[in-house]
Amino acid sequence: MVREPASERAGIRAERFLMIETHKTPLTILLASPRGFCAGVDRAIQIVERAIARYGRPVYVRHEIVHNRCVVEGLEAKGAIFVGELDGVPDDRPVVFSAHGVPKAVPAEAARRNLIFIDATCPLVSKVHREAERHHECGRTVVLIGHAGHPEVIGTMGQLPAGAVLLVKDVAEAEALDVPDPHNLAYATQTTLSVDDTIEIVAILRRRFPAIEGPKLEDICYATSNRQAAVKAIARHCDALVVIASDSSNSVRLVEVAVHYGCPKSRLVQRAADMDWNWLVGAGRLGITAGASAPELLVDELVAACRERFDVAVEEVRTTEESVVFKLPRTLVA
Ligand code: SF4
Repeated sequence: MVREPASERAGIRAERFLMIETHKTPLTILLASPRGFCAGVDRAIQIVERAIARYGRPVYVRHEIVHNRCVVEGLEAKGAIFVGELDGVPDDRPVVFSAHGVPKAVPAEAARRNLIFIDATCPLVSKVHREAERHHECGRTVVLIGHAGHPEVIGTMGQLPAGAVLLVKDVAEAEALDVPDPHNLAYATQTTLSVDDTIEIVAILRRRFPAIEGPKLEDICYATSNRQAAVKAIARHCDALVVIASDSSNSVRLVEVAVHYGCPKSRLVQRAADMDWNWLVGAGRLGITAGASAPELLVDELVAACRERFDVAVEEVRTTEESVVFKLPRTLVA
């Protein structure tokens, strides 16, 4: 048998590879910016890492520090143990409270048990807590716009005695809301809501209860607003749009915004390995963003996976710059 020289075989392979390369379908990726980690998430992750460095392994974390599996697994590998409630924390180990905030009963119970606890509540969530407390002290009933069962909502409602907060999730509930005294009323909002939906709900509350007190702008945080604005800017130019994220509130809102602003084919994808490539067939322009809990490496991973399958051109669409940084708790600063 006559064998072809290795260099020739390699040459043929290279030629075939080139042919495959040139037959890749073109795909333009519109990268929304800002996207991904916000200052609150960045701070919460740093708090867990620094607590492990300071107190040794393991450090317990009450609830997922942020809603992202990749982040949680990364911290577990470094020595964090995630638990649902304080019952799961031994007396001799420190515990971190998640970025979503906790009801007052939680630090009270930690103090009763003499636990070392570090609060990673985002300062923008703490601000809403203080607002709710202030209104309550002034004798106002607080209407909280948010989603029942979300950890942030549980934390905010838990700043005040049971019954002091009325929860409203949408325009229908705002229209139907019954309040004890329309002249002593205030509202606050979850930080990760849809900006547009919240404006509508606040407008209904203001129409029905003209004396209602509330923030000049809603409490929706800068990161949520900025990520939604970036998606609004690209949605109508995309045939499909992926929000890289686990099932967090701000990420689900990003999908809704994308659909509402012109890209009906929009979905959440945790990471490149979960991508359904058949779903993308026929799309020439793919929008990509990432929720506030999703690290940038997951964006890089998805862009790389696209490059393996398509002839990719990437365009970054930046709608604003972000420079927000939150201070760490003093106990963790060397
Ligand atoms: S999404 Fe907003 S409120 Fe939530 S952690 Fe980030 S900056 Fe804070």
